[in-house]
Amino acid sequence: MSVIVPGGTIGILGGGQLGRMTGMAARSLGYDVQVLDPDPDCPARAVASRTITARFDDADAAADLARDCDVVTLEIEQIGRPALEAVSGMAPLRPRAEAIFTVQDRIRQRSWLDTHGFPVGGYRAVMTADECADAVSVLGPSICKSPMGGYDGRGQRRVRTPDEAREAHESLGGGRVIVEQFLDLDLELSVLVARREDGAFAVYPPSVNHHVHGVLDWAICPGGLAAPLVQHAQQVAHAIADTMGIVGLLAVELFLTKDGRLLVNELAPRPHNTYHHSERGHSTSQFEQLVRAVCGLPLGEVASVVPAAIANLLGDLWVEGARPHFAEALTIPDVRLHLYGKASARPGRKMGHLSAIAPSAQEALDKVLEARRLLSPD
Ligand code: ATP
Ligand code: MG
Repeated sequence: MSVIVPGGTIGILGGGQLGRMTGMAARSLGYDVQVLDPDPDCPARAVASRTITARFDDADAAADLARDCDVVTLEIEQIGRPALEAVSGMAPLRPRAEAIFTVQDRIRQRSWLDTHGFPVGGYRAVMTADECADAVSVLGPSICKSPMGGYDGRGQRRVRTPDEAREAHESLGGGRVIVEQFLDLDLELSVLVARREDGAFAVYPPSVNHHVHGVLDWAICPGGLAAPLVQHAQQVAHAIADTMGIVGLLAVELFLTKDGRLLVNELAPRPHNTYHHSERGHSTSQFEQLVRAVCGLPLGEVASVVPAAIANLLGDLWVEGARPHFAEALTIPDVRLHLYGKASARPGRKMGHLSAIAPSAQEALDKVLEARRLLSPD
């Protein structure tokens, strides 16, 4: 296994907030950081010694990044295959191209999970409006999702009838669509797995997550889940990371249905919004852990040290360009503000988050939610 010791250079495909926070952790450990992103003012620019401005399907630019780096990782999975292969030809790409390719398309990802025997909800991959309508007549109320490029609930339509399914298929631009049965959820959770090239791994305790309109609103850890459920979720997540041969991080989003089934929703081969509390509640944050995993360093401890919570700050809080009342929010004890350095706030855009620790996860959650209320003028 190749080890990249501090002093080396880490390349990151993607310069969003996940790249920025990974870059900060890498810097703390003494690594240099370079990033590639289409936006010249991307959040990670502030921590990178070089920012290459290029599209994620630009193989030459990806090779240019890799040439200067000892290892390359990513913070977004929507990277073109030729670009992934160009990187692999120059430097170790962790996770490897094949795993990223499997995950980056919802249909490919879902059939991979299904074929390998991991538990998933009912679904059908369709091509035409007729097939989409058929799928809904079999599955019942469903969510139609574009296979690529969707995040934060974008590229998704809820449908109840075959007629609505036809419309949804068209409004998603036609072509390949995945139809997922709408599940009656008890709760949503995620499990983060760190894995090294030699198979050494660490599995974080599950995070319990709350979404609003398909976007993460808050997350807590520990989530107060029964021990058998925790074990089951961790075992499924590790098995997926192992089977896929992930080197780096794999976040596994899971659903617990009202009828008690634990099902995999989706995978992310990178740091994940639901584990931002790991910077407060765990002795190793997800960002430091990613650096350790891709550099072949010993993985850090992942047990929960103190209950922690995060609440997301969306662009909606920046009312007509006015800045939220940050100072007010920081009057709540143990609350920290994390901003991503994004210049323009648009509704729905993730601008930052608040984190807190407390004797219980519920109290930590109360703190971040109270702090978030204080951000708004009234
Ligand atoms: P993100 O990037 O934030 O993870 P996404 O755009 O990739 O989101 P999904 O994870 O597929 O989208 O879905 C977002 C949310 O929508 C889920 O966390 C869940 O709350 C809800 N959802 C998605 N699929 C289903 C389903 N089949 N049944 C019930 N709820 C669902
Ligand atoms: Mg999701």
